[in-house]
Amino acid sequence: MFKLGCVYRFLNIIDILVYRTSKRETGSGRMTTKQNPAPKREWNYKPPVPIQASPLWQWPPSPSKIGKWFAVRWMPLTENAVLVAIGLVCWTWFQPSMETMKTLHWEWIGAIWLRNFVLIFLIAGSLHWYFHREKKQGTKLKYDPREAMPPSGMFTFGTQVHDNMFWTLVSGVFFWTGYEVLMFWAMANGYAPMLIWSDNPYWFVALYLLTPVWISFHFYWIHRALHWPPLYKLAHALHHRNTNVGPWSGISMHPVEHLMFFSSVLIHFIIPAHPLHILFQMQHQSLTGVTSHTGFEGLVVKDENRFALGTFHHQMHHRYFECNYGNLDVPWDKWFGSFHDGTDEAHERMKARRKVLMG
Ligand SMILES: [Zn+2]
Ligand SMILES: [Zn+2]
Repeated sequence: MFKLGCVYRFLNIIDILVYRTSKRETGSGRMTTKQNPAPKREWNYKPPVPIQASPLWQWPPSPSKIGKWFAVRWMPLTENAVLVAIGLVCWTWFQPSMETMKTLHWEWIGAIWLRNFVLIFLIAGSLHWYFHREKKQGTKLKYDPREAMPPSGMFTFGTQVHDNMFWTLVSGVFFWTGYEVLMFWAMANGYAPMLIWSDNPYWFVALYLLTPVWISFHFYWIHRALHWPPLYKLAHALHHRNTNVGPWSGISMHPVEHLMFFSSVLIHFIIPAHPLHILFQMQHQSLTGVTSHTGFEGLVVKDENRFALGTFHHQMHHRYFECNYGNLDVPWDKWFGSFHDGTDEAHERMKARRKVLMG
């Protein structure tokens, strides 16, 4: 606790310093991206608040709460379950053999690139078509009352969707493929340790469950770094062009951010994994990046939310910037004072924190 307290104070001092420096530089505070005007009505849909972080980190631990947390995220039809299935399909029918991947060759690398391109094109494209183009769900469970952002010179090619598609398909798919190729090639040659089912089936399954937790752990810290003004201006401002988000915004990032964002997979140079875990981890980062930015809490079928998609936690980060740098699997935001749980009290706390930061 003592150490956490020190880190907390350290982060806050850094925040104050960088805010004030950027305010002097820009005259207007650090977030210099041109903003969409604030909506008249704050949110069209707000989930029940306060939103809850994972009970995995509560003391004393509550096995029933932890069990429920994982069950809701994994069973029966959830993003995680679908991602395991997509990984298995890719591994069975669309994956070069380990023997082939021993040698870097454009043919198999190109096939992996194409597989990733098609995957994200289909998923982001169909979500965009369903929710934003055809508006099949109307405004049910839609967080932001505003429509997609209007055309603007700040977007590459002038519109939000073309901008987001470009950065996702060109830079995103490139880095996603690059990290996969690196890991598969390293495993095929014995440079990265490999885990197979018969080594330890329990650990094989546990590694799946722990992957989103590790991604969350890693994401908080790289995201904090990306809010450091030099990195923000260089890279992260591109993602924050989207104050209102859509599926194509998810991994619409600057190449420097992609390089950092996908680097969580490098942990498997130390921790043994199977290529299936690599597929799951990389597809988790890219494809839940897409779903979590849908702008809707979930897919409504027969008046019920049948499939969770967006996260209000991250939606608030896009609206307010200075809160919710991580996600709910590891509550770093709670520990370091940047958690906005959607309540009015949390909103006042965030405004007070902002005031201090702005000096
Ligand atoms: Zn951010
Ligand atoms: Zn985002």
